[in-house]
Amino acid sequence: MTRLIAFLVVVSAIGMAPAAIGQVNNPNVKPELTEVWSPVPPMVTPGAAIGQPPSDAVVLFNGHDLSNWESVNGGPADWTVGNGEFVVAPKAGSIQTKEKFGDVQLHVEWRVPVLPPDRKGQDRGNSGIFLDGLYEVQVLDTLENKTYVNGEAGAIYKQYAPLVNALKPAPEWQSYDIIFMAPRFYQDGTLAEPARMTVFLNGILVQNNVYLQGPTEYRGIPRYVAHGNAPLMLQAHNNEVHYRNLWLRKL
Ligand code: MG
Repeated sequence: MTRLIAFLVVVSAIGMAPAAIGQVNNPNVKPELTEVWSPVPPMVTPGAAIGQPPSDAVVLFNGHDLSNWESVNGGPADWTVGNGEFVVAPKAGSIQTKEKFGDVQLHVEWRVPVLPPDRKGQDRGNSGIFLDGLYEVQVLDTLENKTYVNGEAGAIYKQYAPLVNALKPAPEWQSYDIIFMAPRFYQDGTLAEPARMTVFLNGILVQNNVYLQGPTEYRGIPRYVAHGNAPLMLQAHNNEVHYRNLWLRKL
């Protein structure tokens, strides 16, 4: 309850502060202003479990084609499919599901190739899983790769660092299990209830039912804008990232 009150105080503060409005995506706001570098989440070594889709799952990738997906720029999802997985094709842009979703339990597996040491920070296997197309769970190889902690794997980008660092070494498969509760809005578009997320990375809890401050922004302060159900989006960030075994359950 204390956390809820604290959140509502923050939300009302953001809502009332004229300075916050207009900062969203303002190119004059330095992205470094919202980077957090400590404390660094402790390391935990995951077990070997992998989640197979249950009987009521919507299978988003059948292992053979991206027929359930499209480019966010319109047209087919032109990422590379083979060997039961698919790979980000940077020039093709981000992709999203054709179907729109709200509250979901989502399972995603991803991996990053072994990269040279000079690939650092946010340029080491960067992609992202955007619930409702707006709320990013970061995909990045941050096992031994220092970056701002609210931008490492398991982070809700620039809002919450993961509770622990539960990554496996590349090129091993990593898994996310995400419970996403979409935000609720009143008919006039004001926020009734913020989005919430719980995230397991390789079966280990890294986000425990946290309240999102709004869409995950690269620059500036997040701010909610009313929306309904929306596609699940996977980010093309000019990095090679592989995906497989994507399914969700509508809640
Ligand atoms: Mg990303």
